[in-house]
Amino acid sequence: MKQAVMTAEAPIVPASHASSHERIIAIKELNKWFDEFHVLVDIDLNVDKGEKIVICGPSGSGKSTLIRCINRLEKHQRGSINVMGHELTDDTKDVSRIRQEVGMVFQSFNLFPHLSILQNLTLAPIWIRKMSQRDAEKIAWKYLKRVNIAEHAHKFPSQLSGGQQQRAAIARSLCMQPKIMLFDEPTSALDPEMVNEVLDVMVTLAEEGMTMLCVTHEMGFARRVADHVIFMDEGKIVERQVPEKFFSEPENERTRKFLKQIH
Ligand code: ADP
Ligand code: MG
Repeated sequence: MKQAVMTAEAPIVPASHASSHERIIAIKELNKWFDEFHVLVDIDLNVDKGEKIVICGPSGSGKSTLIRCINRLEKHQRGSINVMGHELTDDTKDVSRIRQEVGMVFQSFNLFPHLSILQNLTLAPIWIRKMSQRDAEKIAWKYLKRVNIAEHAHKFPSQLSGGQQQRAAIARSLCMQPKIMLFDEPTSALDPEMVNEVLDVMVTLAEEGMTMLCVTHEMGFARRVADHVIFMDEGKIVERQVPEKFFSEPENERTRKFLKQIH
């Protein structure tokens, strides 16, 4: 049990404040190669519980590879990645446990096409979390309502719009009750009129305190929810700033150029 700090010298630290500085991801001198190609170069990145980080940068700069390393969809060759106290190494027995705690939403929604939306949501909780079907369905309905697609629960993915499919994919991740959510350009494959319905779900999730790493070029979203915005280029983190500073006076020339291009 954590003791409350109540000595005469120290102020009382409310529990919520104390937990907000819990380090949940610690990446140190991360390097990764695809054969000869040095895709991630000396990446240092710390994320505290409840923090929201937006990652942007040109195509091919290593954004997807970085977040895929965090749930071990990619292996790194040098440096360390610690997720919730677990070091990710070749002999990490806990990779499946880490993946249970780290939800991921991709650009291409990756729903199972032959399963209904409801079945998509209950599959992992039943098979991996060993929940009863009844409990899994209870949680599934909760998140289907949360992302506003409950009326489509018995349809197949192909019967839904892109925006609805992506909201279903987010709900599916949430059914595993992850501690961290990774998003890799979740709105890039959507028609423009569907982008906001997905961003709204992400904003709500952020407001509820989820720890989030989002690769996105939706700068309105970044301004609204990000604690920090990271700019990557050629496998490196070139800049990390609070949004106000990132957008108004970025320090790096490459960041300035990039921001001009996407506006
Ligand atoms: P981003 O998400 O920023 O567009 P990626 O992380 O997808 O960048 O890719 C970074 C670079 O690594 C790109 O040049 C890409 O072609 C290369 N790359 C990505 N995945 C692989 C892979 N599995 N094998 C070889 N090269 C890869
Ligand atoms: Mg990418």
